[in-house]
Amino acid sequence: MPRKAKDLDERVRRKLRKGEVEALVKKLVSLESHCDVPTREKEVAEFLKNFLEDEGVNARLRKVERGRPNVIATVKGTTGAGRSLMLNGHTDTVPAYTMDIKPFSPRVTGGRLYGRGALDMKGGLGAMAMALVAVHRARVDLQSDLVLAAVVGEELRSEGTEDIVVRGPKTDSAIVGEPTGLEIHASHRGLEWLQVHISGRAAHGGQASRGVNAIAMAARFISAVDDELMPRLARRKSRSTLPPTLNIGAISGGQQPSSVADRCVVTIDRRWIPEESLDTVFQDFYDIFDSVKRDHPEFRAKLKRDMTNMKTMTHVPNVVERSHPLVKALQASVAQETGRRAKTTTFWGWTDAALLTHFAKTPAVVFGPGGSGAHSRTEYVRTSDLSICTRVYAATALRTCKTDA
Ligand SMILES: [Zn+2]
Repeated sequence: MPRKAKDLDERVRRKLRKGEVEALVKKLVSLESHCDVPTREKEVAEFLKNFLEDEGVNARLRKVERGRPNVIATVKGTTGAGRSLMLNGHTDTVPAYTMDIKPFSPRVTGGRLYGRGALDMKGGLGAMAMALVAVHRARVDLQSDLVLAAVVGEELRSEGTEDIVVRGPKTDSAIVGEPTGLEIHASHRGLEWLQVHISGRAAHGGQASRGVNAIAMAARFISAVDDELMPRLARRKSRSTLPPTLNIGAISGGQQPSSVADRCVVTIDRRWIPEESLDTVFQDFYDIFDSVKRDHPEFRAKLKRDMTNMKTMTHVPNVVERSHPLVKALQASVAQETGRRAKTTTFWGWTDAALLTHFAKTPAVVFGPGGSGAHSRTEYVRTSDLSICTRVYAATALRTCKTDA
């Protein structure tokens, strides 16, 4: 790496004070921002905006839904000659549910910061905000914009990132700071929630043969999925993501023991690979319906998309080529800050990165700190990863947005 670039990295690194990012993440965790608090993400968004403004970083709130703003902060580029970069992180978390730790009184012990959202993903979000602060403090002249988009609602319908896709800002590439344990995740599967509505014919339990039991039909449908569809999915491989999956997540039907159930609904989580399409996903189920019908002509089923986890944009797979300049820049930054080669691989979950890559045409990859217990009873983020992530985000910005100095 040229000396000048190294000096700049050093200049930015020197602007980060020990314990600073940790303190910021603790503060973010202490501000509840899940769907059970009436103010939702508002408090954390306002805090983040004020924090950035106090540091002299240009930051504003932009309403997504009533009382639910995204934070958009920018370190402006001078000429636009580099590639603009967005750091994207969600401000919401899942509720505390029944945690084994105090969810909103963050505690640091043994190199771990504990609390709801510490890992998913106020850790990554805090590191992203600190990266902007460090670049700003160092008075580095970036050629292209470095943007922070702190978005609402990722845990539910991704309405925050949808708003960014529709209204901008538009950047050349983006990093989503979900926890990856310092691995670069350049791809992941799409996610579709489906409902299979099975209808039967009601009858008295004492004359059950006069009816068609929707629950029994659902059992046949599930058996056919296991026997026919699962092996078919197991044969499908992706060159860029994990194999496709199907999970039957919930079932409900019937009224009471003495009635033949006339309806039953099965809900399904289907993770689909880039080599499949949504049509393939639907067709697989129509094939299963036909197969069940051959043995049970009275079988009636309808397939419906369950839109509760999306606003308007389909949760498509995310694929960014490993040769993409952003992936290369992240790899170089990770090697520089950790002394180790970064693992470049695929993510098991679904993230907002897919919306940016597919709908905004902004290639987005996932990179964030490590820890354990996202959405579970004991959640923590590794504090050393917070500092590393801050430096990696900043170094990647210098590489990507290019510098004049
Ligand atoms: Zn998350």
